[in-house]
Parts: sequence; C-alpha cells; structure tokens
Amino acid sequence: MTKSERKRFMVMLGPPGAGKGTQAVKVAKRYLIPHISTGDIFRAAIKEGTELGRKAKQYLDSGELVPDSVVTDIVAERIKKNDCAPGFLLDGFPRTLPQAEVLDTILRDNGCPLTAVINLTVDREALVKRLTARRTCSDCGENYNIMSKPPKKEGVCDKCGGKLYQRDDDKRETIENRLSVYENQTAPLVAYYQRSQRLVNISGEGAIEDVFGRICRAVG
Ligand code: AMP
Repeated sequence: MTKSERKRFMVMLGPPGAGKGTQAVKVAKRYLIPHISTGDIFRAAIKEGTELGRKAKQYLDSGELVPDSVVTDIVAERIKKNDCAPGFLLDGFPRTLPQAEVLDTILRDNGCPLTAVINLTVDREALVKRLTARRTCSDCGENYNIMSKPPKKEGVCDKCGGKLYQRDDDKRETIENRLSVYENQTAPLVAYYQRSQRLVNISGEGAIEDVFGRICRAVG
C-alpha cells in the first residue's frame, strides 16, 4: 500500500465549542475522507421534519444527548457506505462509552480499527465565549464566530449566501448544560482512548490555521 492509499478511520473528540466542526471539515478535505457529523445529521433531520428529527429535537434543544441506540444505528448505517472505504472522520461521535464500544466492535469486525482520536482541548471559559459568539448558516451549516471569524456581510453566509442564526443550543442556559453533559458523559472517553494509545491531544486554542497545522503534523 502506498502512502496515498493509507486508510484513516478517525474521531474528532472535544468539548462543545472546541472547534471540532471547523477542524473536521478541513481535516476531511485534506485527507479526502468524508466528514460525518452526528450533530449535522440531527439538525438536517429536524429541518426536514423527519421521524428522526422529531425524536431528536427535544434532546438538541435542551443540550442533552440523543439516546445511544438512535445514534449508533445512524452511524453504523452511514459508515457502511462506499465513500467510507478510504476512511472517515467522525465529529461528535462517539459521545458516551457505550457508543465508543459499539464503534470499536463495528470497526474491529470490518478489520479497520480507529487510526487516531484527535482530542481538541480548550479551557472552559474560552468555550463559553466561543459558543455564545457562534453563528451557523441555516442553509449549508458553515460556522462563524462574531468575534474571531465574522462573515464578510453581517448575518449572511460567505459560502452560500444563506442566513446566519444562533443555534438554540448555543444560548447561554443550554451551553452550561452541554458542558456538564460533556464532562459527565463524554470526557471519560479521553481515558478510554488513552488506554488503547489512540489519543492525540491537540490544543484547540489560537487561530484556526494554527490548530489545523498541529493536527496535520500529529496525524501525519
Ligand atoms: P454537536 O453539533 O456535535 O454539538 O451536536 C449537537 C447535539 O446533537 C448534541 O448536543 C446532542 O443533543 C446531539 N448529538 C450529536 N451527536 C450525538 C451523539 N454522538 N450522541 C448523542 N447525542 C448527540
């Protein structure tokens, strides 16, 4: 297998607001693998008013996690698709130990274990600041930050011209809950992946391009 054929089955881990989505888009593009964001899948389903969207809405609105069985079924289906043959980058999944165990089992059964878990670290105060300043495109999902990455025209997406909005779960009350949910349910995954030596800790502080450079150097 040549270097360019190297497969990459990766996970982007980190608290809400660490920049997972922004970095995941760039990393997936760099390594020509699909970017699979469970949050994006749920938001799209809510927007379309599907059965999944109806099930997920109450959890997203309150900052709670969608039940494991719902999420794992979606991811299991998605990663079976042909475009995932060269690898993938999961963003926002897994978020609990049972989800991580299901993922490991699926990948082991397919003979393609995770190659890296990128753990983006940012301190809590900075996370709250970033999340309250985040704006998202209602059409393409692109993220902006009114402080550090403002759109060229206020309220309008640079990429597609869509209208920018503040996600309900980026409002202050919900942010505190999302951070607690992360600490209680997702942070234990750091130790889980550390034990199997798949964890790559990357500081998510600083400019987007600097963080991206750190990730690329670390995953090769
Ligand atoms: P995100 O865009 O990754 O911040 O996800 C937004 C919301 O979607 C979360 O606060 C959860 O309600 C839901 N969600 C996304 N991924 C998962 C997951 N792996 N497990 C459970 N809930 C999830």
